[in-house]
Amino acid sequence: MQLVQSYLDKIETHIELNAFLEVWKDEALEKASELDQKITNGESLGKLFGVVVAIKDNLAYEGHKVSNSSKILEGFESLYTATAVQRLLDQDAIIIGRTNCDEFAMGASNENSAFGSVKNAVNPDLVPGGSSGGSAVAVAANMCHVALGSDTGGSIRQPAAFNGIVGLKPTYGRISRWGLLAYASSFDQIGPMTHSVEDAALLTQIMSGADGQDASMNQIGPLEIEKSSIKEKLTFSVMREAIDNPSLDPEVVSNFKALLSKLESQGHTIRYFDFPLLDSMVPTYYVLTTAEASSNLSRYSGMMYGYRSENATDLESTYTLSRTEGFGTEVKRRIMLGTFVLSSDQYDAYYEKAQKVRRVIQNETRKILENSDAILIPTTSTAAFKLGEKSKDPIAMYLADLFTVQANLAGNPAISLPLYKNLEGLPLGVQLLTKENTENDLFSISQKLMDFYV
Ligand code: GLN
Repeated sequence: MQLVQSYLDKIETHIELNAFLEVWKDEALEKASELDQKITNGESLGKLFGVVVAIKDNLAYEGHKVSNSSKILEGFESLYTATAVQRLLDQDAIIIGRTNCDEFAMGASNENSAFGSVKNAVNPDLVPGGSSGGSAVAVAANMCHVALGSDTGGSIRQPAAFNGIVGLKPTYGRISRWGLLAYASSFDQIGPMTHSVEDAALLTQIMSGADGQDASMNQIGPLEIEKSSIKEKLTFSVMREAIDNPSLDPEVVSNFKALLSKLESQGHTIRYFDFPLLDSMVPTYYVLTTAEASSNLSRYSGMMYGYRSENATDLESTYTLSRTEGFGTEVKRRIMLGTFVLSSDQYDAYYEKAQKVRRVIQNETRKILENSDAILIPTTSTAAFKLGEKSKDPIAMYLADLFTVQANLAGNPAISLPLYKNLEGLPLGVQLLTKENTENDLFSISQKLMDFYV
């Protein structure tokens, strides 16, 4: 009870960071007192007993509002609870509120929210990253223990890097997407945002495992974190283009190189590889995700959910006006782009081509991981940038995803670790990717790296 109150106080203190869209204060306090009662009664306690969790505003929680930070879902309440959220509740977690994000999870700076930008937890003049910026800031500024985000092309890892916390995108199909409002279904994954690798592992373990509601899941059962088997001396694959790239900030490069030397001095092997496909990754990602988004978002028509324009006079104008007034600029841009790449005369040139490139990226990623334990790469090419700096330039914003989209295109698990800071004191993230369904190893290797820097 006291713990929940202390988080509520922190949320109040940091209200200007705009991390939460809604705080379920009374409910959280009530749940806390129920849990206190469980102790008094000597009942058995869940693995997340009393852990205070914030959830991104694209996760369904029965009887609670969910808006995906969009006006088009104004007033909409979830009719059921996302499997991932339910599994946390079943272990006695307390859900404290829903966090701000980019509208429909489309963005890398959280400036696309219909409810105003979130501000970085380390420096409020900077972006928190996106799209799960509210969740990242909520954790980094201690407004909750842990948070859930979703990651389609980096939306957990990039804000985690910008705020100095741990963020995991699990293997595609590891955690049920039931109850996650879809952006690009063959990319989307729910994942944890935490202070420590241990917490990320525990949450992943609890949320993972087959669910009859999501047919795209792998059927391998929940993650068993105890079963890691990593070698003493590891081999890391490093993409040459990720060190030589002109878009990289020099401090990102120097810190990353220092990490590589440190690993080598401890007897680990660094294996460099060329990845000419790097430049194709962002375009491939945007062709495929906008195509999927244009289909997924067609359900928001003013008829079934949320917002309906008051100026509509017939069916056609209900669709047109509700969407025109309800969606923000970036969402509209992506729906149009997606509709374009799927149109019959463009399909072969864009959508089909991008599918083929995705397959090549998947195969190449697998090949690299056959000969090494993990791919190591900076999470982002710069530290958090200024609010407003890239918001007028969508291409510059899309390039912020340069190093994160590979894991979603290929399906591999990837984690961002807050290993060091630049000279200004801003956190820089390092990303690790491992083979599909090897989160166990990913967590063990991550812990090794984190131990270097304590
Ligand atoms: N920045 C990427 C995009 O705008 C990633 C978003 C995400 O992972 N949800 O699509």
